[in-house]
Amino acid sequence: MQERLDRAKRRQLLKEDQAWIGKAVDLSDVRTIQANTRHLTLMLLDTGIKRRASKAAAFASQLLDTTMSKHNPQPVACSKGCDYCCKTYVSVTIPEILRLAQSVRKQPEKSTRVGEAATASAAIPQGEREVKRVVCPILEDKACSEYLVRPVACRAVLSKSLETCLRIFEQNSGEPFPFTDDTTDIRVYIVAMLQASLMMSGLSPLHYEMNQALAVALAHEDAEDRWLAGEALFADVPVDEADIKPSGLSAMIHALVANVRPTL
Ligand code: SF4
Repeated sequence: MQERLDRAKRRQLLKEDQAWIGKAVDLSDVRTIQANTRHLTLMLLDTGIKRRASKAAAFASQLLDTTMSKHNPQPVACSKGCDYCCKTYVSVTIPEILRLAQSVRKQPEKSTRVGEAATASAAIPQGEREVKRVVCPILEDKACSEYLVRPVACRAVLSKSLETCLRIFEQNSGEPFPFTDDTTDIRVYIVAMLQASLMMSGLSPLHYEMNQALAVALAHEDAEDRWLAGEALFADVPVDEADIKPSGLSAMIHALVANVRPTL
């Protein structure tokens, strides 16, 4: 394990980080990635920040949007009214759920739909969700009713081919989703940064099934405080199976933790 940097070097690093924090991430420049991961981690560790988990989710979402619009400006096939991908499995971290819950909590009808979708989702194994669909309880009039606070997974689903989407979602063709070029890489880097910062903050870095996690968050007005205090509030919600197996993403997260932790 690397030794912690001395105080003067840490201060210098934080000063330099200012040039990259919140700006579009250059995926080929490890300094921009580390600077934003450090920022996220320090935010999550700062107990003086109210709703710091939701704020970390907001920061990661803004970073994703900014990076996508800079590096991935090509036209997309997605448009308002096309809601195929809002009926499949959505994988979220708890900070994203807590942020979404803040808005949904004020809307009783939507909250009821979340409970119904959670029950329906619990009855379907993750591997069957592509075929046995559950309409997202946030979907209204074929559009996302929580567009500004939608999870990173939703923000990063941009298709370059409507024809391929139609084959996937109407004919269950089993083809891979036709992400626009670079979308997958950008999403993977932002997710790695958020997960690494959660890991370094002693919080669960895992992704969970959205409908069930949201139902749990809505059932507890003080969910964010309790989760940040270490309560296993989401212990019964199924974890995304992709997070349990070793992968390129998990290797990236561990490398990021190894490099950033000594600088905190
Ligand atoms: S949260 Fe919004 S974008 Fe995501 S699946 Fe639900 S309706 Fe679609």
